[in-house]
Amino acid sequence: MALTLYNTLTRRKEPFAPLNPPYVGMYVCGPTVYGDPHLGHARAAITFDVLYRYLTFLGYKVRYVRNITDVGHLEGDADEGEDKVLKRARLEKVEPIEIAQRYTALYHKAMDALNVLRPSIEPTATGHIPQQIAMIKQILERGYAYEVNGSVYLDVERYRQDFPYGILSGRNVEELLAGSRELEGQAEKRHPWDFALWKRAEPTHLMQWDSPWGRGYPGWHIECSAMSTHYLGVPFDIHGGGLDLVFPHHEAEIAQAHACYGEAAQYQARFWIHNNLVTIEGQKMSKSLGNFITIEEVFSGRHPKLSRGYPPMALRFLVLQAHYRSTLDFSEEALGAAYRAYLRLMNAYRRLGKVRPHMYSTFPVEAWREKVFAHLNDDLNTAAALALFFEQVDDILKLYRGEAFLTVEDLEKLRQTWREVLFDIMGLLPPQQVEWERWERLVNTLVQLRRQARSEKNFPLADFLRDELQRAGVKLLDFPDETLWEMQE
Ligand code: ZN
Repeated sequence: MALTLYNTLTRRKEPFAPLNPPYVGMYVCGPTVYGDPHLGHARAAITFDVLYRYLTFLGYKVRYVRNITDVGHLEGDADEGEDKVLKRARLEKVEPIEIAQRYTALYHKAMDALNVLRPSIEPTATGHIPQQIAMIKQILERGYAYEVNGSVYLDVERYRQDFPYGILSGRNVEELLAGSRELEGQAEKRHPWDFALWKRAEPTHLMQWDSPWGRGYPGWHIECSAMSTHYLGVPFDIHGGGLDLVFPHHEAEIAQAHACYGEAAQYQARFWIHNNLVTIEGQKMSKSLGNFITIEEVFSGRHPKLSRGYPPMALRFLVLQAHYRSTLDFSEEALGAAYRAYLRLMNAYRRLGKVRPHMYSTFPVEAWREKVFAHLNDDLNTAAALALFFEQVDDILKLYRGEAFLTVEDLEKLRQTWREVLFDIMGLLPPQQVEWERWERLVNTLVQLRRQARSEKNFPLADFLRDELQRAGVKLLDFPDETLWEMQE
């Protein structure tokens, strides 16, 4: 069974086939680097990390481009408001590039902890101004944009004569018009739904570049059209991002691609894929509601909604337990349950490593493996695939205790499936460190037990405990009144 993916463009699941096999071009809208990475970033990155890993697992050569937005993303959706990176720089009295660098580094740190693979190419908007200008020039030459006072706008009315607008979001222009407000800076536009490709900069504006239309900076949408097609050609295979980007960002990208490349652009990408959003205890996550949770706060537990910190794999598992097109409701209860579920699978995997093979099998490994991959192929249903692993936890205990059996081949196939699906495709990591406090408690118990054995002159037991602790890297320092211990290699 082949991989099928839900295509937002056609509103149905379609079998995935690359335009130029075995190569797959995938572009995903990355973060705007002006604040701490939060749960929304984690979900989007993990969703497309799983897709990237699975396509690679299936044998495709994936060129995965995920951008960094460091200019042009304004606070409003209608070309109004301040640039998000610039605003932060102004508030903190630092250079915009310092903001971009700091939050790019924090994003990388959080993603590395979550075991999200780095993309093949990670272009920045400020690093691709010439490509954006070239694209805008071509759109102007083809008559789909106009210049006013040093700003350039895409002419949606003109575009609609040749191409459908609103195809991705399913909105029609009349609805868009009804939703558009009279905003500052709108006066230059011929129609309220036109959007900026290039904006004129005031002399005091901190980030600006030369262009054929004077000093200015690019609109937010053009960066993704320019960088995706620059690295992947047009059309390319997969364009991804969060559901909140469908309109206006991705709708604008499709219009820009058609306006620049004509019919040949074919909606810029063959598949448009969107992950759903994260809610917090049923509410939209927002700073004003006080329920905005950063990834670092999940790890450290320093947030009023959390009583403790959780390891990165707890969060990754929580994301995997929901289908990427469903909303994911975050709460400490859900996170704690995800962590326990993750440990349950990891314990079963460890036990599976100790199962001994038998002459015959009492468990249908191949059929089970096929069911797992059928779920993954069904629009990347990680939630349903994981459920099959939970069903197997009790079976593994039976295998270990000799109440069920597998041949050498079946046992290896079972282990291979666990490894491939949980670690290679879903990107989980086995628990890496024993938490220091738990480890300390365990060692203290054993040291106490040994002192008691010695006082009861049970020297064989005392020596056994000392040797076992030594083998675990714990060295004992005996004093008459107490025994100290320290960690060694
Ligand atoms: Zn984008």
